[in-house]
Amino acid sequence: MNERGMLFLLSGPSGVGKGTVRKALFKRNPHELLYSISATTREARRNEVDGKDYFFVSKQKFEQMINEGQMLEYAQYVDQYYGTPKTRIDEQRQQGNDVFMEIEVNGAMQVRAKVPDAILIFLLPPDLMQLRNRLELRGTESDKVIDERLKTARQEILMMTNYDYAVVNDKVDKAVKKVQTIIGAERLKAKRLANSYIKILEG
Ligand code: 5GP
Repeated sequence: MNERGMLFLLSGPSGVGKGTVRKALFKRNPHELLYSISATTREARRNEVDGKDYFFVSKQKFEQMINEGQMLEYAQYVDQYYGTPKTRIDEQRQQGNDVFMEIEVNGAMQVRAKVPDAILIFLLPPDLMQLRNRLELRGTESDKVIDERLKTARQEILMMTNYDYAVVNDKVDKAVKKVQTIIGAERLKAKRLANSYIKILEG
């Protein structure tokens, strides 16, 4: 039987580039990790595909999923719901596949509490000024939203100590390499490998 798959989680402040790092990681490693597709009530952006980028659902449907206990975690972010359906993650891990989540920090803390063996990676901006630049460059948010996001970001940075690893996102390529290093090292942990060997010995 396969060793149970691992759960990697990438989080960090708004605008730090979590999505960019995650997409670059999957481009390099398309088959090594399974991406956990979130559900959200926000509108799809141009180029986003339902069932690939997100499951785009109504507020009513999302609340139904919460009430039925289908969510591993969920959070409200900029007035919209975002959450992780848990069945697929459980099934994939059971089959020995490693799963990768990319979510905001409140959801990450729910995963920390519910899934003790999840490996949490915190993505940090090189500094707050750069975070502001990135949000402004993206140009999709108003000044008020940017100010709110920066205030939240300062609080989020203080949460870093709840994570297993921290990666500064100065260059996407470098950040991706660091995330790959973390994944590689976790896969080589002696305790994890010993479990597999013990299972073989015990038949
Ligand atoms: P966006 O609207 O830009 O796609 O995502 C907004 C924020 O929601 C990002 O910080 C993203 O990481 C986070 N997010 C995406 N999916 C989930 C999820 O399933 N749960 C939580 N808690 N946050 C999520």
